[in-house]
Amino acid sequence: MNLVLLGPPGAGKGTQAKVLNEGLKLPHISTGDILRDSVKSESKFGLEVKKIMESGALVPDDLINKIIEERLSKPDTNKGFILDGFPRTKAQAVKLDEILKNHPAGDIDLVLYFDSTLKVIIDRLSGRLVCRNCGENFHIKNVPPKKEMFCDHCGGELYQRQDDKEDTIKNRIKVYEESISPLVEYYEKQKKIRKINADFSAKEVYEVLTKLFKDEQLL
Ligand SMILES: [Zn+2]
Repeated sequence: MNLVLLGPPGAGKGTQAKVLNEGLKLPHISTGDILRDSVKSESKFGLEVKKIMESGALVPDDLINKIIEERLSKPDTNKGFILDGFPRTKAQAVKLDEILKNHPAGDIDLVLYFDSTLKVIIDRLSGRLVCRNCGENFHIKNVPPKKEMFCDHCGGELYQRQDDKEDTIKNRIKVYEESISPLVEYYEKQKKIRKINADFSAKEVYEVLTKLFKDEQLL
């Protein structure tokens, strides 16, 4: 099964990607994670990525496409995969379809769009804590770290992102929805988009997804 996950910040896409990864035993391919890892490795490529990210610019399509093409050439993707953070533009989606023409796992089966109400998103994001070192997310109420303001996984310091404030959250959601709409249209034409109500808990959303996969005869 080949899945693409879409959804605005705070819709629980990252959490669900992890649950799906464990439940379906399919590799979770997060472009955010790959980029962070490459920056940390300080390779020539990583330094290039770092420069782009620090300038605040989006990583160009060419570079992201190359990363995904290389990742999808690894044999652990032969039975399927979960894409998180890619594609982000219609051009990237077109490229992905091209890559998959010669891939053992075949085409994208479903594009899951995680949809949450603004109230829930604000609640999730305004309580979010991020590890400075490994990028892991926590939540003051929902997923508190064992040691206050320190990461459970690597011991790194946790912080609240500057853009996780209520007024900026509203703007980020609006910008996201506008920027993603050509991509959503692209997958609507292919009849692959499924909107998921992501206001529920991670466990409940997973149950909805499992039922969906059965209905679509993917499980
Ligand atoms: Zn950490």
